[in-house]
Amino acid sequence: MAEIHNTILIICAAVEERNQIISVVASLHATPLVALDPPQALTMLKSHHVDIIILDLDSENAASNSQVMQDRQYEIVQGIRNTESTAELPIIFLSRQSPDTLRLQLCASAGPVAFLSKPFSPFILELELMNFIQRLHYQSEYRRLADESTLLKLDLSRRNKQLAFSSQVARRISIILDQDLLLREIIRLIQEEFKFYFTGIWLLSANSESIVLREGSFSKENAALKPGYILNLGEDSSIISHVCRTQHIHIAQNTNQDPYYLAADALPETKAELTIPLTFKGGLLGVIDIQSERPQVFHPDDIEILGTIADQVAVAIRNANLYNEVLKGQEKLEEMVLNRTQELQAAYQKLELLEQNKSDFIQVLSHELRTPLTLVSGYAELLLTNEQGQTDPFFKQQVMGVLTGSIRLHELIDSMVDMLKIDSRSLQLMPQKISLDGIIAPLLATLEEALQRRNIKVTSNNLENLPEIEGDLALLEKVFDQLVTNAMKYTPDGGEISIQGRHIHQDFNGVAEDFIEISVRDTGIGISPEHLDMIFTKFYQIGNVSQHSTGKIKFKGGGPGLGLSISRGIVEAHRGRIWAESPGHDENICPGSCFYVLLPVSQELY
Ligand code: ADP
Repeated sequence: MAEIHNTILIICAAVEERNQIISVVASLHATPLVALDPPQALTMLKSHHVDIIILDLDSENAASNSQVMQDRQYEIVQGIRNTESTAELPIIFLSRQSPDTLRLQLCASAGPVAFLSKPFSPFILELELMNFIQRLHYQSEYRRLADESTLLKLDLSRRNKQLAFSSQVARRISIILDQDLLLREIIRLIQEEFKFYFTGIWLLSANSESIVLREGSFSKENAALKPGYILNLGEDSSIISHVCRTQHIHIAQNTNQDPYYLAADALPETKAELTIPLTFKGGLLGVIDIQSERPQVFHPDDIEILGTIADQVAVAIRNANLYNEVLKGQEKLEEMVLNRTQELQAAYQKLELLEQNKSDFIQVLSHELRTPLTLVSGYAELLLTNEQGQTDPFFKQQVMGVLTGSIRLHELIDSMVDMLKIDSRSLQLMPQKISLDGIIAPLLATLEEALQRRNIKVTSNNLENLPEIEGDLALLEKVFDQLVTNAMKYTPDGGEISIQGRHIHQDFNGVAEDFIEISVRDTGIGISPEHLDMIFTKFYQIGNVSQHSTGKIKFKGGGPGLGLSISRGIVEAHRGRIWAESPGHDENICPGSCFYVLLPVSQELY
C-alpha cells in the first residue's frame, strides 16, 4: 500500500489525553491538528484538509462536565455533518458516558463513527484509526480507479470518433478521381467535422517555386482568401513556405508568438495556424493549412487525426493526378488514332483510285493489245494458207513463230484479266456438272506430244470413279492446265507425273459435305518450305527470273508468276482449297512436289 499522510483533527481540551492521542496519531505517520474547543475546530476545518476527527466529548474539568457542555460538543458534530465538504468525515468519539444515547446514534447516521469509552486504550485508538485510515485509502484508490476508467472511456470514445472520421474521409475520397471534386470533398469533410475559421488545400506548382490555394473553406464571412491565390515560396516567409521547406507539420498555437506566421488581410481573425505537409513517397505535393480565430485551439488528438487524413489525402491526390495523366494520354491516343485513321482513309482512297486506274489500265491495255494481236494472228494464219506458206519451209517457220508468239501474248493478256477479276472479286462462276476425268483426260491428250518429247510419264488414278461436281468448266480447266504444265515445267526430262483423285465425305459441325481432292504429283526439282505458300501470291517466282528459260512446257520455263495465283482465286471462288507439299528444293536429287485441289461437290450448300 502506498504511504499516504493523513491529517487528523484532535479536539480535546484535556492535556494528558490530548498528548496520548497525539502520540498515537504520530505513530501512524499521520499529521495531528489540534483544536482546544469546538469553535476553533470549525475554523480549522475551513482552512485545512482533514481526514479523520477525534472528538473528546467530555470537558477538561470532570466537575464541569455538564449537560450544557455536551450539547456544545454535539453542535460541532452537526456543524461538521451539515457542511458538504466534511459531511462524510469519520469521527472517533471519546467519552466517559455511555454511547447508547440518542444523540450519538444521530451522529452515526450521517457518516462513519467509532466510540471509545474513557479511559481509552491507546492500542484500541490506534486500531480504530488504522481501520479508518485503511478505509480512506481504499476510498481514494477506488475514486482514482473510477476517474481513470472515466478518462479511459472518454479517450476511447474520442478515438472511436477520430477513427470513424478518418475512415469516412478515406471512404469518400478514395472513390473520387477528379482532382477538383476531390479537393472540394476533402475540405468539406474537414470543415464539417472541425468548423475551423479557414481550411485550405494548397498544391505545389509544376516548377515547385510557388504554391497555389486550390480549395478553401471558411466559417466566417470576413475570411476571404480565394482559390487561385499564389504564394511565392522563394520570397514569402510564412508558415506554409516553412512547412514546404522542412516537409514537417507546424503548429502555431498562438500566431502572435510564431516567428514564421505571415498575417494575411484576407484572414484578419487568425490566432492559431496548423499546417500539415502533403507528401507522397518523400515528394511534396502541397499542404493542408488550417487557421483558427482562437489561440491554443489545436488539441494533440485533432492534430494526430488531421495528420492521418493528410496522408490519405496525399495518396488520393496522387491517384487523381495519375488518373488525369492517363486521361490526357488517352485523349492524345484517341487524337492520334483519329489522325492515323484519317491518314489511312486518305491512303485507302488513293489506293482505291490507283486500283481503279490499274483496272482501267489493264482493261484498256488488254483491249488495245488484243485487237492488234488478233489482227497479227489472223494475218499470220492467212499467210500460212497462201502458197508461200504452203511451199516455203523457212517462210512457214517464221510465220509459225509469229503465230505462237501472238498466242502466248493472248494467254498472258487473258491471265492478267483473270487476275484482275479475282482481285476485284468480280469473277463470275458459270456452274455446271463436271467430271474431273472429263477435264484431265483431254488436257493430257493435248499435252501428249510434249510429254513424249520430254519423255515424261503421266499416270492418272481413280479419276473416273469420282462423283461429278458443280463448277465452272472453263475456269477449272485453267487450274488443272496450270498444275499439269507446271509439273512438266519443273520436272526434268524422263520424270513422272501422277494424278490421283479422292472422294472425301466430311462432317463439319454436324453439317455433312462431299468433296473431291485431286493431287498432281511430280518428280521435279521440288519447292523449299519457305516458298510453299508464297508461290500462290501474284507475280511470285522462285529463283533468278533472268535464268528462266522461256516456253510453256520447257524444263524450268518461266511464266509471269500469275498461274498459281489465278488458280487459287478460281478454287477459292468454288469454296475450295489449293495447296502444295514438297520435301524441299533440289535440282540434282529432284525430291518432287505435290499440288492438292479440294473442291466441294455441290456449290449450293450455302
Ligand atoms: P509461273 O508462271 O512463273 O510458273 P506460277 O504461279 O505458275 O508462275 O508458279 C510460281 C512459282 O512456283 C514458279 O515460278 C515455280 O518456282 C514454282 N512452282 C510452281 N509449280 C511448281 C512445281 N510443280 N515444282 C516446282 N516449283 C513449282
